[in-house]
Amino acid sequence: MSDVFAEAPAQSAKPTVFFDGVSSRKRQVTLTLGDALEICEEGGTPVRWAYAEIRRADSPPGILRLAAMSAPPLARLEIRDGVLAADVTARCMHLDEHRTTRRGVAKIVGWSVAAAVSIVCVVLFGVPLAADRLAPLVPKPVERRIGDAAEVQMKTIFGRSVCEDPAGKAAFTKLVNRLRDAAGLDDTMTAGVLPTSVPNAFALPGGKVFVLKGLFDKAESPDELAGILAHELGHLKHHDNMRGLIYNGGTSFLIGLLFGDVTGSSAVIFASRSLVEASYSREAETGADTFAIEIMHKLGRSPKPAAELMFRITGKEGGSGLATIFASHPLTEDRLARMTKEDRPPSGPPLLTDKEWQALKGICGSGKM
Ligand SMILES: [Zn+2]
Repeated sequence: MSDVFAEAPAQSAKPTVFFDGVSSRKRQVTLTLGDALEICEEGGTPVRWAYAEIRRADSPPGILRLAAMSAPPLARLEIRDGVLAADVTARCMHLDEHRTTRRGVAKIVGWSVAAAVSIVCVVLFGVPLAADRLAPLVPKPVERRIGDAAEVQMKTIFGRSVCEDPAGKAAFTKLVNRLRDAAGLDDTMTAGVLPTSVPNAFALPGGKVFVLKGLFDKAESPDELAGILAHELGHLKHHDNMRGLIYNGGTSFLIGLLFGDVTGSSAVIFASRSLVEASYSREAETGADTFAIEIMHKLGRSPKPAAELMFRITGKEGGSGLATIFASHPLTEDRLARMTKEDRPPSGPPLLTDKEWQALKGICGSGKM
């Protein structure tokens, strides 16, 4: 044994040591295994630990280190004798319970299983099925981390500072909150405006939406903008960006996820780059449109103005401009036709007042771009 015990009497080669969790004194104790575990220091009052309350604590090999739920948090019992340790272990029915039921651990285990199953799916059925199954299962912290990195990437390209004119920001928040509530998204969702003349909007993992100033310049009414925002919320709700990442990254991305490498910086950079350059699949676009139509109807507004805004931008730029909304959201005739067909006379109040709308258009200040 180590020299720590050199001062201890030689009555046992493998002493049992107890820290009561209150003082830092190391006590050499004997154990009595009755209907509870009795810990006795010579001349002291015995301490009783119910077996059901005993939990395993982290320890070096060769030592069984125990804690008890009823004892002070730092109280530890260290058993070095293998036979005694086995004897105690046999009586503690919940020894490792905290490890397996700790939610975080369980989630990560569940996630690894999902990733492993998906890799098998990739081999057997090809990637799309796996991406569909896996995207909603990506743990929120992983999604958020990728979203944060993508945000940095996005700001590098489109302008570092978020537009923050106070009146404009208040109007933007009002509009976003109305859409968010109608969409049933929680308040971890964030939205910002970036000062660039490119007309586009992005949904990033981790509940982030960015609208580029160019879209405000082209929009002629709150409904036009709202329909496009609602479409982005649809992508968020459906985890389309994670699905796209898994699809495009394929097996290597899945394996990265499985081994936790996705939280490593290289995978995150890969992911954020693909997000900024990504375009959604036809199916994802149809799904986001369906969602946008539902949200707008729920608010008593028409989805048609959003289609008109898209049409106006297409008309001017032929729909092929890099980084425009059509690069990331491929536009087809039937998408426009569908949103136009879902036109309804307004049955809800305007989403913004005229004054708020003017403020929103000036959210990036004047002349700054
Ligand atoms: Zn889209």
